[in-house]
Amino acid sequence: MSKIAWIGLGHMGIPMSRNMVEAGHSVRGYDVSESAREKALANGVDIADSIADAVRDVDAVFTMLQSAKVVEQVVSGPGGAFANMPKGTVVIDCSTIGIDIARTLAASAREQGVGFVDAPVSGGVQGAEEATLTLMLGGDIDHVAAAEPLLKSVGSYIVHVGPSGDGQAMKVANNALMAVGMATACEVSVLAQKLGLDPQMYFDVVTRSSGDSWVFRNWFPLPGVVENSPASHGYEPGFMIDLIHKDLRLATATAAEFGVRLDTAAAAAQLFADASAAGDGGRDCTGLALTLGAEVQIPASV
Ligand code: NAD
Repeated sequence: MSKIAWIGLGHMGIPMSRNMVEAGHSVRGYDVSESAREKALANGVDIADSIADAVRDVDAVFTMLQSAKVVEQVVSGPGGAFANMPKGTVVIDCSTIGIDIARTLAASAREQGVGFVDAPVSGGVQGAEEATLTLMLGGDIDHVAAAEPLLKSVGSYIVHVGPSGDGQAMKVANNALMAVGMATACEVSVLAQKLGLDPQMYFDVVTRSSGDSWVFRNWFPLPGVVENSPASHGYEPGFMIDLIHKDLRLATATAAEFGVRLDTAAAAAQLFADASAAGDGGRDCTGLALTLGAEVQIPASV
């Protein structure tokens, strides 16, 4: 069993680090949020006082953070992971941060005698809870070989896509599809409601018809139909509107770089940007349906 550090104990980091503990690894965690640290402690994660303290003497460092900017802050600089983790060990970054920054961080890690694997995930909080995530790895073969046995504790489909950044490339190409599907599911579900269609009947018909998709089936955006959809739990995240918007921005920026049209992703990005501007950025992404005018009762307890 290994000694690992886990930086970023949010919606994904909490269940993933818990699965690491349950698999028998010794996990030292760090998060800037006190409530996150308390939840992790209750799951058997030892809590460190700082990033430097968390990464000292470990076999590998996991990061699960919102954005490229935060990952860069956590791994770089004198107090960061690269400078304080043992030489020869690897940072396994499960965040969605984009291709170029993953390559830059891998080069910076190499200069400091450590490794960096981009290992973004798909499957949402439910996939994290059930340890059935898909993991898309980019990095040097020896670093990926060090990461893979540990990742079996959090995922069920692990693929080495290619060199550094290629895991992020795969994630961009997946999440553009997912996020456009989510925006469409929200828009059309509001229309279905306005047409007077019963939500359960609408769901039952679509999931047996050509409109079906992973997001529609798992994250149906009207409450009371899909038990595990955040829509059935007061639109609490899950996967926040601000984060799905970040992924769409990564997709549209990447497409622009390659001269590829991604107009549907640009339209979806605008919808989520509007939701964020309306103050809904911290809601689950299914909550776009609310911003778009879905009429639902949210339980007072949420
Ligand atoms: P989150 O916001 O719930 O968690 C991020 C955590 O990082 C928070 O607890 C925050 O306090 C902590 N943090 C911020 N700055 C920090 C710092 N400097 N040092 C230590 N901790 C710090 O986000 P999430 O939903 O868990 O997503 C994390 C990443 O995974 C994102 O890149 C997201 O796009 C990706 N992702 C999320 C999902 C999902 O369904 N939520 C699914 C797949 C991928």
